Amino acid sequence: MTEQSISCPRCGHTNTSDSRFCNKCGNPLVADAAVAAVPPSQSAGAKAIISLILGILSIFMLGFLAGIPAMILAKHEEDEIRRGRSPVAGEMLAKLGFWLGLIGTVLSGLTILLIVFFIFFGLSFPFIFSCAL
Ligand SMILES: [Zn+2]
Repeated sequence: MTEQSISCPRCGHTNTSDSRFCNKCGNPLVADAAVAAVPPSQSAGAKAIISLILGILSIFMLGFLAGIPAMILAKHEEDEIRRGRSPVAGEMLAKLGFWLGLIGTVLSGLTILLIVFFIFFGLSFPFIFSCAL
């Protein structure tokens, strides 16, 4: 028999060369390597890490200036992970970056509202007061 065979990269089972999936474990065989996802043992992607850093910065000092890019980057990275283009290891970081960015953005938004509120009432209070007299 001259028939070639492909051994499964996962379980080592020997399959005929025309099989696309392992007969034993169902793992896609080497022919599909071009479509294969990023190896699962990789560390988190750069975008996931950057979004986490931006999320932290947004909470501690930059507010929405870092929070909004953190959320955009995190969503983008989650998308890439779902499509298998970015390492799954970054999923938690991206999620964390998103929530930190959201919290930072909301906090800075509230702070700005509060400042505007106080400026408004700080300026108008004497006026209201004089009218009441
Ligand atoms: Zn197999």
